[in-house]
Amino acid sequence: MAKLKLAVYWSASCGGCDVAILDIAERILDVVAIADIVFWPLATDFKYKDVEAMADNSIDVCLFNGAVRNSEQEHIARLLRAKSKTMVAYGSCACFGGIPSLGNFNCRAETFQRAYIEAPTNVNTDHVSPQTLTKVPEGELELPDYWDTVLALHQVVAVEYFLPGCPPPVELTNKVVDALASGELPPPGTIIASDKSLCEECDRIKEDKKITRIYRPHQIIPDPKRCLLELGLICMGPATRGGCGQRCIKANMPCRGCFGPPPGIIDQGAKMLSALASIYEANDEESIAKMLAEVVDPAGTFNRFVMSTSMLQRKHL
Ligand code: SF4
Ligand code: SF4
Ligand code: SF4
Repeated sequence: MAKLKLAVYWSASCGGCDVAILDIAERILDVVAIADIVFWPLATDFKYKDVEAMADNSIDVCLFNGAVRNSEQEHIARLLRAKSKTMVAYGSCACFGGIPSLGNFNCRAETFQRAYIEAPTNVNTDHVSPQTLTKVPEGELELPDYWDTVLALHQVVAVEYFLPGCPPPVELTNKVVDALASGELPPPGTIIASDKSLCEECDRIKEDKKITRIYRPHQIIPDPKRCLLELGLICMGPATRGGCGQRCIKANMPCRGCFGPPPGIIDQGAKMLSALASIYEANDEESIAKMLAEVVDPAGTFNRFVMSTSMLQRKHL
């Protein structure tokens, strides 16, 4: 069998998804046995011009991690889409916008002000920040136009498969490797995870208890057997797709929602808000206002990984 051609790209990303691919440890040898890596900026020295020179559809699979937030990333997403038979949105940033999509609560100017001027670790006395040039001087590299709105990959190009997680767990990456090796790929559009919510997979004791206040994780040491939400911690399990192996729950930490909404749920944040309201002892307007006052940054907390694909999409400025 001819070897597959594999590309990996890192867009608006923290780099964790690239590392997650390496986390499959010795199975990387299986990948190399079935595939030639034709583009992977983190690990190889191919340039954009090498990809441009490839024939359309000549890459079999592209694992694309990171969201899309500037014109360079859009250009490469479109380029890799044209060159690839199969695009995989790899990780929560590519699937839903991820952590970078929290930038949708601000505009570009506000993000630059915070990132380049105000951040306490900066030494930037000249207040230098990225510029968009309307006319690029000859010989100068064109600088990317940085957008106000962060997008998920499928909001820019068509995507065949979605592999959520921040980063995706090794088991699910191995599942993709197995599917590539056998040639038995699932139907396009498949989300490579569970078809259940995280709560359905979680075996913690649920007592249908109401809560009277909300705690942050550092404020209590939770009973490792009981439902974290019923202990007053914001566990996103009711509003999150399963399949991660309950990574956080097993570490006695509440789920933060990185697998995105479960099947049938359009908006993860709205689902979590309603789950929390239903478990709160009182549900009159005043009590709900008190509950929300106890949640630090409710919009960001409930949409931490999914702002690009939420019904809100962004804060309207
Ligand atoms: S999904 Fe998580 S690990 Fe992957 S690039 Fe985004 S922030 Fe990093
Ligand atoms: S809310 Fe969290 S701890 Fe409780 S059952 Fe769901 S996933 Fe488990
Ligand atoms: S428990 Fe939640 S936040 Fe943790 S890995 Fe699973 S889906 Fe992601």
